[in-house]
Amino acid sequence: MAPSGSRSIKNGCKRVLYWIPVLFIALIVAWSYYAYCFTVFNQNAVIYLLVYHVIFVMFVWAYWQTICTRPSNPLKEVSVSVCDAAFITLFLSSIGEDEAWRGSADVGYTIRFCDRCQLLKPDRCHHCSVCDRCILKMDHHCPWVNNCVGFSNYKFFMLFLAYSLLYCLFITATDLQYFIKFWLNGLPDTQAKFHILFLFFSASMFSVSLASLLTYHCWLVCKNRSTLEAVRAPVFRHGTDKSGFSLGLRKNFRQVFGDEVKYWPIPVFTGLGDGCSFPTCLVNVDPEQPSTSPTGSNPFPSKPLTESQSRLLTSTPSWSENDSATGRKGKIAC
Ligand SMILES: [Zn+2]
Ligand SMILES: [Zn+2]
Repeated sequence: MAPSGSRSIKNGCKRVLYWIPVLFIALIVAWSYYAYCFTVFNQNAVIYLLVYHVIFVMFVWAYWQTICTRPSNPLKEVSVSVCDAAFITLFLSSIGEDEAWRGSADVGYTIRFCDRCQLLKPDRCHHCSVCDRCILKMDHHCPWVNNCVGFSNYKFFMLFLAYSLLYCLFITATDLQYFIKFWLNGLPDTQAKFHILFLFFSASMFSVSLASLLTYHCWLVCKNRSTLEAVRAPVFRHGTDKSGFSLGLRKNFRQVFGDEVKYWPIPVFTGLGDGCSFPTCLVNVDPEQPSTSPTGSNPFPSKPLTESQSRLLTSTPSWSENDSATGRKGKIAC
């Protein structure tokens, strides 16, 4: 085992290195601001500069929120003592991981235990090896924001993608006239030529990658699926199901962006739910356990919900009995 001193230096170096992609993005954005406002366009293009600054502020705000919002962790109430943790780890290792996922249905809910954090993981919670902690509704760890994208900042991440795409498209569209002039030798031989050329190339290239990433995450929101769940389907009593948390397009979208339309484009948290329990179309029809949690009885303490949060989570299910072909015991008509 490495001495604790060298280990802390190694961890410190890692933490500094993790900020390099964020610094790279910040430098690109700072350069693009300088190039657009001070060399390519001047005070004569007031309308362009006005629109540019509105998009720029929203883009930087969403990026800041994605970076600085601390990912939600499971509540301390679900942590277990060192002794219990050792017992659970021994038990899970004795029956194998697959058994741990499936065998737990016999005791009413799926056992998902994190031996690093020593706590029982709520639905959709995963341990991030970079952050070294469990993250509620973890989507992925994003190096470009040096943060985990999860329950608390997924809306910010979506807005960051949307505004950064808008930012790049706006620069590409307004810079196009000068870009054409550049190739027709219609521009004076100044430093602005360099900025016009590289603004156009960098903005159009980022537009392509951002558009594909945004399209993918829009699809995930519509399906109520995280990136991790798209790779490995969550486990329910009847088995794995990638669409197990989907409630229909409208409800899926509202779960991330909230009820109030006016807040959808604003990078403030408006999502529904508490991040620990999630309503689902797939439930067990056992009358003794009417819970809408995919894993039956939910052992995780929840935070008090606002009225809008409660509405989504406590919506009364209407049952469809004709779903035996898929092996599901019941289904809420969404
Ligand atoms: Zn963990
Ligand atoms: Zn992380």
